[in-house]
Amino acid sequence: MRIDVLTALPGLVDAPLRHSILERAQEKGVATVRVHDLRTYAPGKHHQVDDRPFGGGAGMVLKPEPVFRGVEAIADAEGEADEIVYLTPDGECLDQSTVNQLSLNEHLILIAGHYEGIDQRVRDQLVTRELSIGDYVLSGGELPALVLIDAVVRVLPGALGDSSSALTDSFQDGLLGAPAYTRPAEFRGMEVPEVLRSGDHQRIARWRDEKRLEKTRNRRPDLLPDAEDAEAS
Ligand code: SAM
Repeated sequence: MRIDVLTALPGLVDAPLRHSILERAQEKGVATVRVHDLRTYAPGKHHQVDDRPFGGGAGMVLKPEPVFRGVEAIADAEGEADEIVYLTPDGECLDQSTVNQLSLNEHLILIAGHYEGIDQRVRDQLVTRELSIGDYVLSGGELPALVLIDAVVRVLPGALGDSSSALTDSFQDGLLGAPAYTRPAEFRGMEVPEVLRSGDHQRIARWRDEKRLEKTRNRRPDLLPDAEDAEAS
């Protein structure tokens, strides 16, 4: 999969791509992520990417030209993207099923807004999907873009050392994840449950399922109708 990110602050997106699973996924050729500075596509001597809002009001708005030109340059070089996503607090709330769906695409372009947001004509004409990472407002779309990239890349085949681990994460089947323990078996008087040390894989799987259901009932009962339907089928 290829992901292109258009941003006025490329440095904010670059660094996390050079660590851990995102770095390894790129080294293995599972994903290619490229970050583009909107200033490169901004005409004029000053490469200005933002301007004051028509009608007045606080803050600056990202101008349409650099975003249109950036998307067109990426399309010329790499072909049309399957989705052009604008990260915005008033978008559809990102969840695991949207992440899984996005991971089936070959090419995504992500647009990070900044300041007051982005010229509405970009949203009307270019953007195919608007996504929010939660009901709160951040200063820019760079962190939301990274959240999306991390969530999508980790479910791509080959991204994780053990690809089955993404399948047992919270939300993949509508349940929260099971508790995890590692060595030592006893720490300050707290023992790892005996079943996890038993070597009996069926008992371990049953125990994990019970714990996942218990945790979901306690913390996120809103998830359960879906999960219980899935279990019955
Ligand atoms: N004026 C905008 C509004 O009221 O919806 C908020 C703009 S916000 C300060 C600047 C940028 O941060 C947005 O254009 C968007 O790209 C990004 N952003 C902020 N919060 C976000 C969220 N919860 N999810 C996704 N993107 C977000």
